[in-house]
Amino acid sequence: METHSDWTDLLLPSSGSGNPPLLENTMEAPASPLTNPTASSSHPAPPVFRVSSESSTAPEIGQNSTLLVSTGFPPASTYSTHPPDLILVSSDSVFFHVHRSTLQAASEHAFHISYSSLPPSPNGSAESVITISESSTTLNIILHTIYGLSCAHYLPSYEAVSTAVAALAANEIPVKRFMTPSSPLSDLVLAHAPLHPIDAYVLAAKYDLHDLAVPVSSHLLSFDLSSITDEMAKQIGSHYLKRLFLLHYERVEGLKRIIMPPPNSHPPTPTCTSTDQGKLATAWTLATASLVWSSSVDLTTTTIKSTIGPIENEIHCPICREALNNRTQALVTQWTKVQRTI
Ligand SMILES: [Zn+2]
Repeated sequence: METHSDWTDLLLPSSGSGNPPLLENTMEAPASPLTNPTASSSHPAPPVFRVSSESSTAPEIGQNSTLLVSTGFPPASTYSTHPPDLILVSSDSVFFHVHRSTLQAASEHAFHISYSSLPPSPNGSAESVITISESSTTLNIILHTIYGLSCAHYLPSYEAVSTAVAALAANEIPVKRFMTPSSPLSDLVLAHAPLHPIDAYVLAAKYDLHDLAVPVSSHLLSFDLSSITDEMAKQIGSHYLKRLFLLHYERVEGLKRIIMPPPNSHPPTPTCTSTDQGKLATAWTLATASLVWSSSVDLTTTTIKSTIGPIENEIHCPICREALNNRTQALVTQWTKVQRTI
């Protein structure tokens, strides 16, 4: 479990029953005795606050024990017009107070729960408690996703985000429905894409998230395709794998196409003969060939200018210098228009 330095302590009063209220699946729990925590969920804080005691691994309602309660989904959650009527308990014993109607709207069998068989939960009365096999980190991301909320302020790692996406599918919650363009979870994956480009691409491809795979692919221009493993290829699938290879191929071919023509020549003059202009054309060919042979897929306009720029120092004809500058600028403009995504 993570270190929770700013957890807020809450003490759960004893009911005297002595019986653990958490069953394998569901049961009636006492009306929540927890008060609204003072800890705010609007800042980058850990997603739980603490109900004190040494028993942090197996909290039990009804005893003087410890409860770890999600600050994002506290008892007084205001995400709906009615109070939370269901408690989900993560594998690391963090309590999340949620609305069964919201979960059911996400999927009829979200978290493998049979909502129709849950005991009634009129406002202010008992809540059902269900144990979930996911960790609090994963469950926090899933629930934010279902509620349409961003959890970016918790700064989840890429691994946490990736695990949460897999957990959506494992818990019968449709991934494609909750990972539409600009959805909080898609934005999280995109935020990690610069540092985890191929992993993010594998994720997008695995769940056929085309609108996510497209922007992610722009971070793969410098990726060595030969490093794709058999397992990665299997997860990406033939469709998205082909598109990634085509992206690299077409950028190389596009560069070759736009880079070939040398600067315009001009009628010979006493100071700039055809031979002189031939030297410019040769210098252009050599410089641009080095660009093609280098990292052409993710070639930057800065590299183009720095590679071709020195040629100008060898040109004394003002007409040729202008032609070189115009040709370089045209090349830069054309290169920015070459496709950068699948
Ligand atoms: Zn000239």
